Amino acid sequence: MSNPSVCIIGGGAVGLATALHLARRGVTDVTVLEAEHPAAGSSGLSVGIIETQYVTPLDIELRVRTMSFFNELEREHGLHVTRNGYLRLAHREQELAGFAESVRIQHELGVPDATVLDRAAIGRMIPEMRVDDVDGGLYGPSDGFIDGHLYCGLLVELGEALGVKVLGRHAVREVADEPGGGHRVITARGEFACDVVVNAAGAWGARVAGLLGTEMPLMPQRHEAVVVHLAAPLPYVVPSVMDYTPHSGETGLYFRHERPGQLIAGLHTEEANEEPADPNDYARSASPDFLEEVAEKITSRLPGLRESSLAHGWAGLYPISPDGVPQVGPAPGDDSVIVAGGAGGSGIQLSPVLGELAADWILHGEPRAIGDGARLAPRREALAAA
Ligand SMILES: Cc1cc2nc3c(=O)[nH]c(=O)nc-3n(C[C@H](O)[C@H](O)[C@H](O)COP(=O)(O)OP(=O)(O)OC[C@H]3O[C@@H](n4cnc5c(N)ncnc54)[C@H](O)[C@@H]3O)c2cc1C
Repeated sequence: MSNPSVCIIGGGAVGLATALHLARRGVTDVTVLEAEHPAAGSSGLSVGIIETQYVTPLDIELRVRTMSFFNELEREHGLHVTRNGYLRLAHREQELAGFAESVRIQHELGVPDATVLDRAAIGRMIPEMRVDDVDGGLYGPSDGFIDGHLYCGLLVELGEALGVKVLGRHAVREVADEPGGGHRVITARGEFACDVVVNAAGAWGARVAGLLGTEMPLMPQRHEAVVVHLAAPLPYVVPSVMDYTPHSGETGLYFRHERPGQLIAGLHTEEANEEPADPNDYARSASPDFLEEVAEKITSRLPGLRESSLAHGWAGLYPISPDGVPQVGPAPGDDSVIVAGGAGGSGIQLSPVLGELAADWILHGEPRAIGDGARLAPRREALAAA
């Protein structure tokens, strides 16, 4: 379809990036319907890390593609990116071969500064950190973090300049099929006719799929983060450190610089290990159990940080697909509904490429932004079985 009318349900990072990509490719009728306000969901609760230090070729390719978009927003449109670097730790010798392969792939894809660090180099970089149990690290010096609200605000601004309509307080209540094809999307504040609907409703994706008469297997997982106050500012900017190996089945500590004298920390996993959370009814503040576990893990990983204390904590949802892989493409049973989401704890960093792939499916009927984009198609076998 060359210039379809498109309604996007959800004004988070993924929905707004999709809208901008469509508008940049000349689609003139794009409406984002958001229940509350842009970034009201997970995108406004994120820690905002953007990086390419992954180990599978698909994970790496997605993130390298996405980084070029963040670089453009930073260069041309003033997106503030704190380039504090990103370090993924390895605790087993055999992980280092995967890290070396990641570096090779990243270099091939145009990320020249990705590198593997040995224990001594990591110890010099973060002298306060325990490294005797660390075998090495995968390090991206130009990785960084952004603010989810500012990022979504910029996507709104750039989209609106190209004619995208972003409507807050437009919760979609019902979607009806039009007799001649297409959809009528119904909110309390108006109805919208469109050829294509994008389900970019984050943790609400399964519910919105129900309104659309389709399915989206999703397991929203509650995750928390907390601000760590240091007794004294460190004389350097702490990189984001991820003490978790993707697809390991474990939960790992991560932390990053926030400002001098402050870090942000959380516990990360890419698997759905818990019962799915209800996006309309989950505890928003950090639990005592979480705070205790983070405090223990920080004391153990950063013994050089004396007298640090935990301050404000919060919770949000990772919208995780049952197989841990994001979903972009036509919904089961309906080619005019495009799913874009399920990116778990990586939805901010993946939003540009998910938006690009969603636009590909709408305009070309296939994913073009990356070589292996079909692996994200919602009709894949792993999801049918979920
Ligand atoms: C504590 C925490 C830390 C994180 N840290 C990172 C990180 O460092 N890096 C990273 O890349 N990712 C991180 N994430 C994950 C990231 O926040 C999410 O993957 C991402 O924000 C998902 O974006 P989205 O647009 O799919 O969903 P959302 O941002 O949730 O947007 C969906 C929107 O849909 C709207 N909506 C729902 N139902 C309807 C309806 N019926 N009608 C209209 N609108 C509707 C909601 O109001 C919401 O605004 C973190 C998440 C958490 C909770």
